[in-house]
Amino acid sequence: MKLKVFKFGGASVKDAGSVKNVVSVLKQFPNQKIVVVVSAMGKTTNALEKLTDDFVLKNGNAKTILEEIKKYHFDIIGNLFSNSTHPIYSEVKNIFSDLEIKTNKLSSDSYNKEYDQIVSQGEIVATKIVRAYLNEVGIKNNWLDIREVIKTDSTFREGKVNWELTEKLVGILNPNQQITITQGFLGCTPDNFTTTLGREGSDYTASILAYCTNAESVTIWKDVPGVMNADPKWFDETKLIDQMSYQDAIELAYYGATVIHPKTIKPLQNKRIPLYVKSFLQPEKKGTVINDQHSQLPIPCFIFKVNQILLSISPKDFSFIVEENFSDIFKTFAEHQVKINVMQNSAISFSVCTDNDEHKIPELIKTLQKNFRVLYNENLELITIRYYNQPTIDRVCIGKKIFLEHKSRYTVQLVVKNV
Ligand code: ASP
Ligand code: MG
Repeated sequence: MKLKVFKFGGASVKDAGSVKNVVSVLKQFPNQKIVVVVSAMGKTTNALEKLTDDFVLKNGNAKTILEEIKKYHFDIIGNLFSNSTHPIYSEVKNIFSDLEIKTNKLSSDSYNKEYDQIVSQGEIVATKIVRAYLNEVGIKNNWLDIREVIKTDSTFREGKVNWELTEKLVGILNPNQQITITQGFLGCTPDNFTTTLGREGSDYTASILAYCTNAESVTIWKDVPGVMNADPKWFDETKLIDQMSYQDAIELAYYGATVIHPKTIKPLQNKRIPLYVKSFLQPEKKGTVINDQHSQLPIPCFIFKVNQILLSISPKDFSFIVEENFSDIFKTFAEHQVKINVMQNSAISFSVCTDNDEHKIPELIKTLQKNFRVLYNENLELITIRYYNQPTIDRVCIGKKIFLEHKSRYTVQLVVKNV
């Protein structure tokens, strides 16, 4: 029997009711070999991020933040396990005691590394709780520390997977167990430090495991019916897409559709493993399947990214932008781990739109300013439309000023500001 890989994100384990719902979903797949990848509960990753920040910036709120995270998890446990002597209580208590010790020892000179050691605990604690609850309701399962399997380099917060080694190690996924519970988002360096795979990286974990085990399929269980043509947060009338090619999915995720992590698709495409995006509230509904059928999407898809910054980079001596400038510029972006969302060049300047990350952009600008003149505009939005036409462009640009427009055959990207 081939393995199925399921991924439950933060929203699908955000409270006791949701954890119970995971059980109902799993009950629909009796006697199947399933690896269940679980993310941190609710917004725990954000909270742990705040905790790490607070420590580094010494704002003095760390204790309160940690208490809140702890309380949130204990509330969930309280609603799942009526027996207050259940071992899960002390197990979770120990995780939080360790976390407190870790945060007290935080040093600010290796922020990314410290971040991963702290933030990773969200997935650890979530999987411990899910595992214990499955046992409680009689679903036999095996808890796997994913860090024994997914090996990465030492790029903290964006671990690069060592595929060869990971492929060898997936054998640990206990083949006799029907259900294995493991963490999304985490990896491990050669010297045994925890890495994370980039925010929202649990989808990617599911994909890595599916690739390495030649799984039958991956299913991402979400709080939406499947992949929609726009985020319902921004659009009133959104439509469900039944089927999508790997190519469209890669493009949409790359441009910032948050429904799937961008790195998820490629490994699945290489092995033609279908990816289902389904509603955990209506698991019997078909949702969306992403597979190797090549049909184009029947409707335009919209992707919005807020908090963008547009950098305009030009040589200090007003000379032209030439190839050697590009290699310098790209190298600087890579060194600062800043991803380029759109770029455009003219004779004397190079424009780049990126997420305005307060931890990265000020330093990036400082470095660029050593060799270039850098102008920038903040508080911008990036709108991407796949399968665009003029009416769709006009519609999204109402009340906005366009700073940059970049068109290819199927996709337009617009950097805009509210006026
Ligand atoms: N918990 C991690 C995050 O929120 C990973 C994930 O949810 O996929 O970024
Ligand atoms: Mg999450």
